[in-house]
Amino acid sequence: MSDKFDVVVVGGGPGGYVAAIRAAQLGLKTACIDKWLNKEGNGVYGGTCLNVGCIPSKALLDSSHKYEEAKDNYEIHGITTKDVKIDVSKMLERKENIVNNLTQGVAGLFKSNGVTALEGFGKVIAGKKVEFTDHSGNVQVLDAENIIIATGSVPVEIPPAPLTEGVIVDSSGALEFTEAPKRLGVIGAGVIGLELGSVWNRLGSEVTVLEAQDKFLHLVDSMVGKEAAKQFKKQGMNIMLGARLTGTEVKGKGKKKEVIVSYTDAEGDKTITFDKLIVAVGRRPYTENLFSQDAGVNLDERGFIFVNDQCATDAPGIYAIGDVVRGPMLAHKASEEGVMVAERIAGHKAQINYDCIPSVIYTHPEIAWVGKSEDELKADGETYNVGMFPFAAVGRAMAANDTAGFVKIIADAETDMILGASVIGPSAGDLVQQVVIAMEFGSSAEDLGMMVFSHPTLSEAVHEAALSVNNHAIHKANRKRR
Ligand code: FAD
Ligand code: AMP
Repeated sequence: MSDKFDVVVVGGGPGGYVAAIRAAQLGLKTACIDKWLNKEGNGVYGGTCLNVGCIPSKALLDSSHKYEEAKDNYEIHGITTKDVKIDVSKMLERKENIVNNLTQGVAGLFKSNGVTALEGFGKVIAGKKVEFTDHSGNVQVLDAENIIIATGSVPVEIPPAPLTEGVIVDSSGALEFTEAPKRLGVIGAGVIGLELGSVWNRLGSEVTVLEAQDKFLHLVDSMVGKEAAKQFKKQGMNIMLGARLTGTEVKGKGKKKEVIVSYTDAEGDKTITFDKLIVAVGRRPYTENLFSQDAGVNLDERGFIFVNDQCATDAPGIYAIGDVVRGPMLAHKASEEGVMVAERIAGHKAQINYDCIPSVIYTHPEIAWVGKSEDELKADGETYNVGMFPFAAVGRAMAANDTAGFVKIIADAETDMILGASVIGPSAGDLVQQVVIAMEFGSSAEDLGMMVFSHPTLSEAVHEAALSVNNHAIHKANRKRR
């Protein structure tokens, strides 16, 4: 492999593999290096997202949701279900099959697009070279016109809760429980903690979430956070706010192992005992052994690779994308950065609108948002109008017996331009995407309100929330009539 590559991508997650495919589509001679080995010891692409992140977590969320629906929510439809059971090993097998299908799919896409797939470790060295070590230890140095670093992130580990085989696990371990633990603790009420806590709560675990912050879901709109807390409480999840984990002690042997968790809240020091504990306190950028000292790439003070808005590092011809750089740790953000960088390398003028990246929490109800929340706008002293519409007034939500939550759209008071939206309720992730599209096209709330939405659909909540911004929603009372 002595030829020079136009692009060498280090990391084959949703950032790296998408960058590699787009670069190859644009006619660039491209290689993608990834070190991931699956349980069978085979090299696979797809990174965190396909192997232990977005996809397996959603597979378990969907299975557990169906189980809960069949168990508790069919009677209202006149359907009798008795002795509904879940076979956890079958559920895990289904998840594995989905993961395998998708990772093999990436390998297939590499082949069809002519990307050279290199399984092993990549290290960036001076002079735009990448040292590639395959899984057998053979080393080659690749010459690259351009390098794209997409090495992603790994779970944050905290000293008071060291991972302990079978008892204290991170998000990857929480995807592998072979039965629902009786008492399950989750440290961190972030996206990952709530999703994984929901899976096992639905399957029968008594779930307690300890969150150090006093405010629940502090990053989302306050009204959404309040509604979410209400709904999760109803589902039986015990969410303890202002509770900071300070230590753990594992006791017992084999299946009898348990973990005593020490934490501090407003009342002082306390302990609580669980059968399993998930540590979900965030993720950190992964750059271990990635650079030789003279590679010329700098990190910021939090360990992320320092890049500009176009994902260029301080070293000419070297780019970095995805979880290893600033911004939200989301698969779709990583992929879009991958496409942008590949296109810029090919000489196109690509750019990302970082103000328009949606986020979704795939709990039930689902939670999704884009742009600015009301809390942020208030703190910035902006003037704005808010339109809201509850799913309880949406015919299709009633038909589906899924009426918790609402759509909230916020527009500039003067120009009516949409500044942000939050949705909590059925298909929130898909509904917020409609507002993302509107925002990308510079839509006002009035523009969105003037579009035709199919009836009966959940999307009508988006339509009515947009109308409600200017007080002319049809299916609810408005603050002022116009
Ligand atoms: P990664 O996916 O982390 O991929 C990095 C790759 O680089 C890995 O394959 C790694 O093996 C490889 N690598 C690292 N260093 C080297 C090296 N030196 N040489 C060779 N290879 C290397 N995001 C969403 O948008 N939606 C979700 O629903 C969602 N759910 C999630 C659920 C869980 C449980 C978790 C943990 C994460 C979830 N995420 C979700 C986050 C999402 O997985 C990440 O944002 C995304 O995977 C980041 O993509 P990336 O390409 O930057 O890095
Ligand atoms: P996220 O960053 O969205 O993955 O969420 C991680 C959550 O974990 C944040 O809300 C943190 O406040 C929380 N967290 C971090 N450390 C601790 C700790 N020691 N005890 C409880 N919660 C924590």
